[in-house]
Amino acid sequence: MIQSIRGTKDLLPGEIEKWHFLEEAVRTVTQRYGYKEIRTPILERTEVFSRSIGENTDIVNKEMYTFLDKGGESVTMRPEKTAALVRSVIQNNLTHDVASLRLWYFGPFFRYERPQKGRLRQFHQFGAECISSANAESDAEIILLANHLIKFLGIDDYELQLNSLGNENSRANYRVELINYLNNHKDELSEESRKRLALNPLRILDSKDANDRLIIEKAPAIIDFLDEESTTHFGTVKELLDSAEVTYKIEPRLVRGLDYYSHTVFEFRSSALGAQDAFGGGGRYDGLFKQLGGKPTPAVGFAMGVERLILILEAINAVKDIHHECDVYVICTNDKLYKHILTIAEELRSKSYRVATDLQRRSFKAQMREAGKLSAKYCLILGDDEIEKNTVTVKNMSTGEQAEIKRELLHTIRFR
Ligand code: AMP
Repeated sequence: MIQSIRGTKDLLPGEIEKWHFLEEAVRTVTQRYGYKEIRTPILERTEVFSRSIGENTDIVNKEMYTFLDKGGESVTMRPEKTAALVRSVIQNNLTHDVASLRLWYFGPFFRYERPQKGRLRQFHQFGAECISSANAESDAEIILLANHLIKFLGIDDYELQLNSLGNENSRANYRVELINYLNNHKDELSEESRKRLALNPLRILDSKDANDRLIIEKAPAIIDFLDEESTTHFGTVKELLDSAEVTYKIEPRLVRGLDYYSHTVFEFRSSALGAQDAFGGGGRYDGLFKQLGGKPTPAVGFAMGVERLILILEAINAVKDIHHECDVYVICTNDKLYKHILTIAEELRSKSYRVATDLQRRSFKAQMREAGKLSAKYCLILGDDEIEKNTVTVKNMSTGEQAEIKRELLHTIRFR
């Protein structure tokens, strides 16, 4: 037997309905905020990610599915969306005639991580990006959209963590202080973090190593190094969230795992998830357009992990009633009548009913059992008798009542 690849998952009937529920929610909520869908390729040139996410991040260093294609070009299966989306916005000049470009997406992403609960190698994200405004209103809009969606799904028990990385100037000042502090604790840091100290010290704040965490907890916080512009921006974001009555917690050591963020960063966490408790996050990325060869364009966005959201929905039982419904199950009592059930099924389907029939030529009893399994609301039963009289027997599956009606009157019955 050939097995699927480690860290990838088949989405089987029974589970996929939960995905449809989530996809529908994403469509509804993004529409409420005026966002339009964008789909970009899974394969991108490697530089789209190496130039943006940062050469010394886990994603680029260890986790990317990168290979040379048959033409010798280095390509990568996208590990996240924002960089690819920005590539597309620049290439297609999507910002040229709109004040603010509002986009959303949903799709598969790939990271070579160690699989565990809530962590896969092929996983799915949806997200939204608000492009062209440097104002705090757009940070707030993106956070409100994400928050609205979480509530729309019926999730109440979660935490929104918020921080600011400030502008470049603030980060440069902070970097000096952080390196100073970490140098004093160099010998206690994990090997990984020691390596990062020279290359990308901010990333150390992301370390999961227990000992590193103790050191990080006492490290200087970036929020104390924000210059005036950065403080004002962050202050306005908080004010806007307060006036919209969004609850958040300032998390001074939140930096997120990618290099392109500036100013606002945020993450959503749920205690329903266990070790991998972040189910979404995002932030502002004003420098990314320039890094990818476009003209400087401010932007802010978020991404949420579909698999983790579904784990939360399961934990709070929000998806228990989702199953595929069948309005009518058409049954015949002997093998010669199959063509009649197909005709009736087609007639009802063209009236938009959901109709199922047996394809195994099973017994009447087996067909009734199947109708029950599918939770069909009605059964239509055709026997020799009915064919002779040009009628059909209609059985209401919840009340058990049944009646024989003329075939030509079938269209007058409402099965839903
Ligand atoms: P990130 O931008 O890396 O924080 O990813 C945003 C969200 O995607 C996370 O909060 C997770 O919910 C989800 N995510 C990231 N990596 C994985 C993964 N390997 N497997 C499942 N979900 C993931």
